[in-house]
Amino acid sequence: MLGFLRKDPNDRGMISDRLRPFGTSIFSTMTRLANEHQAINLAQGFPDFDGPREIFDFAREAMDAGCNQYARSMGLPDLVESVARHFSRAYGMSYDPMTEVCVSTGATEGLAASVLGLLNPGDEVLLMEPFYDSYPALAAMAGASVKSLVLEAPDFALDLNRLEDLIGPKTRLLLLNNPHNPSGKVFSQEELQGIAKLCIQNNVLVLSDEVYEFLTYDGVSHIPIASLPGMRERTLTVSSTGKTFSLTGWKIGWVVGPEDLVKATQAAHQFLTFAVTTPFQAAMAKAIEHFGPSYVKELRREYLARRDFLVDMLEEKGFGVSVPRGSYFVLADVSALTEKPATEFAMDLIRERQVAALPVESFYLEGRKSEGQRLLRFAFCKRLETLQAAKERL
Ligand code: PMP
Ligand code: GLN
Repeated sequence: MLGFLRKDPNDRGMISDRLRPFGTSIFSTMTRLANEHQAINLAQGFPDFDGPREIFDFAREAMDAGCNQYARSMGLPDLVESVARHFSRAYGMSYDPMTEVCVSTGATEGLAASVLGLLNPGDEVLLMEPFYDSYPALAAMAGASVKSLVLEAPDFALDLNRLEDLIGPKTRLLLLNNPHNPSGKVFSQEELQGIAKLCIQNNVLVLSDEVYEFLTYDGVSHIPIASLPGMRERTLTVSSTGKTFSLTGWKIGWVVGPEDLVKATQAAHQFLTFAVTTPFQAAMAKAIEHFGPSYVKELRREYLARRDFLVDMLEEKGFGVSVPRGSYFVLADVSALTEKPATEFAMDLIRERQVAALPVESFYLEGRKSEGQRLLRFAFCKRLETLQAAKERL
């Protein structure tokens, strides 16, 4: 638990045993602190700019046209068709829109519905640390236990032998995140093939969180693990329009996979939320068709400029930086600047420089926090002016 968090005197301890250990999400915490100190928020990963205005018109048109009641539970036909077409165009993969796609309230709910729909109490889930914060909480909600492989900084290389050692008879699901938050790592084809081989040999399912599928740089391209031989039948792929269209607040995501696995996701999704906001689904269906490869190319070009600016800035300020090939995050080692743990240094930055970054230790399990204690994560999904202002403050 982060030492600088306030304890709420009104807290009567009502949170269930399953969820109490996870406290408050680090993203909410850091954004609250950033706002309290009028700091530039490079902690929480959300763009400080809006996605294309045309998509707003698509949403208004949908509302005017009467798309205002519950949608089909698994997703508006127009949107599931757009998602299936996207998989076919981008990756040459074929999915049946009506049975193999489930639209979710952002990737977050898609991941939750999949974990809750697939796992039985006592099952084991394989994670890789550092991990996106919701993964262990989801396992706990499903009554599953977690086994986790630490990917070691600075290159976060995957040791397949150590991964294999973690697999046992109860291992049911591997939760992969590629491109990876917070490290910006993009798994190589060899690494993905290695993971695939182990999962096939040991009959392990894969839930692959690919929300940053379009945010890859330096000529690196994204490979969905589901596209590897033998993997389609055992993989659910999760993505979200939040990052791609810079509209994280719209919370339109999806889960795609073979019919029986998507049925498991849907079994939970129907009771978690039943259906996702209708006009925003309609708008996203149009957006996916309207904004093709040239939009993605421009998105990448802009993000590359932001990445390079942030990397240069952090290096100039004395941080130890590894250059991310994916996502919109940069990890920075504070060792050359301070003896303090990165969590304390993050607080100093917020208070004294009004710049907020995220302590990476929150992406590790209790007992392994030391792995991340020298690292801060800076988000570059911000306007260049915002990054410039952060540079001046630092
Ligand atoms: N997975 C990862 C790795 C993320 O970084 C995020 C948030 N940016 C999500 C899932 C959640 O996505 P959404 O906002 O669509 O729920
Ligand atoms: N995914 C975003 C990040 O990593 C934040 C998501 C959230 O606030 N829950 O910063």
